[in-house]
Amino acid sequence: MTPSIDLSKPGKRHGFLPLIHSDNRHAHAVIPIPITVICGGAGPTTLVTAGVHGDEFAGILAARQLIADLSPASLVGRVIVMPMLNLPACRAETRVSPLDGANLNRVFGVGAPAGPTAAIAEAVVAIILPEVDFVLDLHSGGTTARYLPSAFLYDQPGASLAKKRAAARAFAIPFTLVVTPPPDAGSLLGAAERQGIPAIACEVSGGATLDRHAVAATRAGMLGVLHHLGHCPAPQGDAARGADTRFVRLAFGAAHAVVAPFSGGVLPLHDPGDIIAAGQPAAHLYPMEDQSQPASVLTFPKTGLITSVTARPNVRAGDLIFLTGTLEP
Ligand SMILES: [Zn+2]
Repeated sequence: MTPSIDLSKPGKRHGFLPLIHSDNRHAHAVIPIPITVICGGAGPTTLVTAGVHGDEFAGILAARQLIADLSPASLVGRVIVMPMLNLPACRAETRVSPLDGANLNRVFGVGAPAGPTAAIAEAVVAIILPEVDFVLDLHSGGTTARYLPSAFLYDQPGASLAKKRAAARAFAIPFTLVVTPPPDAGSLLGAAERQGIPAIACEVSGGATLDRHAVAATRAGMLGVLHHLGHCPAPQGDAARGADTRFVRLAFGAAHAVVAPFSGGVLPLHDPGDIIAAGQPAAHLYPMEDQSQPASVLTFPKTGLITSVTARPNVRAGDLIFLTGTLEP
């Protein structure tokens, strides 16, 4: 998959990565994965991605705005923007690809079975990542959850951890989720870090809505990071933004989550950002098709900070209702 544009010449160019896929809708068609390069003078290269999940709209639109924001005349180095990386999922407004049901953020560099989603990941790993010095991957919660507006980073020790934490501070959103990645994480962050490239993400908004405050926070965060990396001057009004972020240790698993014990209608009692205590009521869960049974009161297993809440009115047994984290001292 060769980009339709030159990624190295000075200037701003818009093109695509040609994804070839043949099915009932696409016979010999190309699915053009958008890519824009803004190339100024000598300097580092940063990759900005959005639309890894097609139902996370704030990041997609913020990346679109960034393309207009950046001018090669005032840019140091190069910024590559891929605002709808999983274009088939973006077109369908779904988390995973409608072409093969794959989650793009699980197939980067892990030898996933061949298919259109793996082909996008392979092109990024083989063609784009070797060109870049830093990755910023924009997420926006998606259909299933509302997130604490936050930056997100992996905590592997090493030189890049300090760079990632500094970049998260420059994103200047109130919280940053710090996660220990699974081995061979198939996420874009995992693939970048295996190539020695520091990478952070963000999770802003959720519930598959397009919220203007989330778009604005994502756009301002990106410009703050690009300034921090030396690409551009401080964004206007930057002095009024938060000067720092609080780091929140997030672990997946039952000890840090409220999980639906049965299928039902759910009424969460708290929002992302709330501080909660172990044993405190978290949500009421109603067995909707058995009117004789009262609602169950679900409780938090651990004291902490709510990082996400389900955006669904009805959950199934095993679904996450809340994820919680622990503020770093
Ligand atoms: Zn996502």
